[in-house]
Amino acid sequence: MSTGEIRRVIIIGAGQAGGETAQRLRQGGFEGEITLIGEEPAAPYQRPPLSKAYLKGDLDIDRLMLRPASMYAEERIALLTKTRAVWIDRANRKVRVEGGRELPYDALVLATGAKPRKLPLVGADLEGVYLFRTAADVDRVREKFVSGAKLIVIGAGYIGLEVAAVARQLGLNVTVIETAVRPLARVTSPEVAGFFLDEHTRQGVRFVLGGQPALIKGSDRVTGVALTDGAELPADLVIAGIGVTPDIAIAEQCGLTVNNGIVTDRQCRTSDPNIFAIGDCAARPMVHYNGQIVRLESVHNAVEGAKIVAATLTGGKEHTEEAPWFWSDQYDLKLQIAGLFHGYDRVVFRGVMADRAFAAFYYKGDKLIAVDAVNRPAEYLGAKMLIQTGRTLPPNLLEDMSRPMKELVASAR
Ligand code: FAD
Repeated sequence: MSTGEIRRVIIIGAGQAGGETAQRLRQGGFEGEITLIGEEPAAPYQRPPLSKAYLKGDLDIDRLMLRPASMYAEERIALLTKTRAVWIDRANRKVRVEGGRELPYDALVLATGAKPRKLPLVGADLEGVYLFRTAADVDRVREKFVSGAKLIVIGAGYIGLEVAAVARQLGLNVTVIETAVRPLARVTSPEVAGFFLDEHTRQGVRFVLGGQPALIKGSDRVTGVALTDGAELPADLVIAGIGVTPDIAIAEQCGLTVNNGIVTDRQCRTSDPNIFAIGDCAARPMVHYNGQIVRLESVHNAVEGAKIVAATLTGGKEHTEEAPWFWSDQYDLKLQIAGLFHGYDRVVFRGVMADRAFAAFYYKGDKLIAVDAVNRPAEYLGAKMLIQTGRTLPPNLLEDMSRPMKELVASAR
């Protein structure tokens, strides 16, 4: 189908990726119908502040919104909130929503995101045990975040550690249980993980590393967590931060190719040429990593998908992809990440951890593949540019703090 024949675009999932797509289609000059279907009650909003400023009470819901609610009507985007899409009829190009209404499409974008993993434990449904994905999840938790309350966070990934940081700042007693022997095991090197472990410990967070929760204790509401080694930890609140699974139910129902996410090509096109998939639910070839098919969970990835699809559907200039990036805020530490560190064989540090401002550069052979920069924006930006343009720097140059990062980047090949 040529772009000129596309009159009706339906987007399933009114989150970061879906909301961005609708808006970018209009910005790209698409004049046809856009329907944005979302099961949450709110217009598209940003999730990152949920475990940061919003949890702390420094932001209200209006500040989370991707765009003002009035924008959707102004841009002629039909936003259907509290509406779940339940069926895709590929042969007749129709989406059915709960209640039975059927909506025809010429192009369909799946932006269904991911679902938080539930604790696979007895007691996981008790009052006081929370998941952390939506504004509604956080609203339920926020009022319980009072000084002196005993919080157990299960899972020491970025979200778990961000929640722990906010909780300590609000005066809660915090214990983090992690089944791996270190925090952030899936997402960074042992050195950087060790830095964050020390920082949290200094702030008063207790860690149970290598701990296996066996049972959430309580009769009508949570009272603690029992571990497989027999230990019992008291709790008023338990927050599970044990990762997410891509929401691929509707893609599976209609027979699209899935493999840890809805598989797409570089243009975000699924195994059906009229259906695209973007954001946390999708896996696509990464241009900066030899076309390796990867599913990312980040705002940047959601926005990249929206830009790629909008360019394809409007016949606009092909979007030049940026290297992947991500961030995490914990206490006064701003961690900025560019690239994908998996498969690195060498890590080089610039700056010292004791100063709480340093960057870890990850190399595979002589190629720079990723950076973790803590309170070091110049190192983050420089490394991101190098990864983006496929250039690299000899590691020994990076260790030389007398040379500004900008100068090093300019000399890179
Ligand atoms: P989502 O934003 O999850 O949106 C998907 C939407 O689709 C949801 O509203 C869902 O209800 C809806 N949906 C699903 N199925 C259907 C259906 N059948 N019908 C209708 N609607 C449907 N990323 C960063 O880069 N930096 C951070 O610091 C950061 N912090 C985070 C903190 C938290 C607490 C969380 C939860 C995430 C964080 N992320 C962060 C990740 C980032 O928010 C996600 O990667 C991003 O939101 C993905 O966008 P998405 O549109 O793919 O999915």
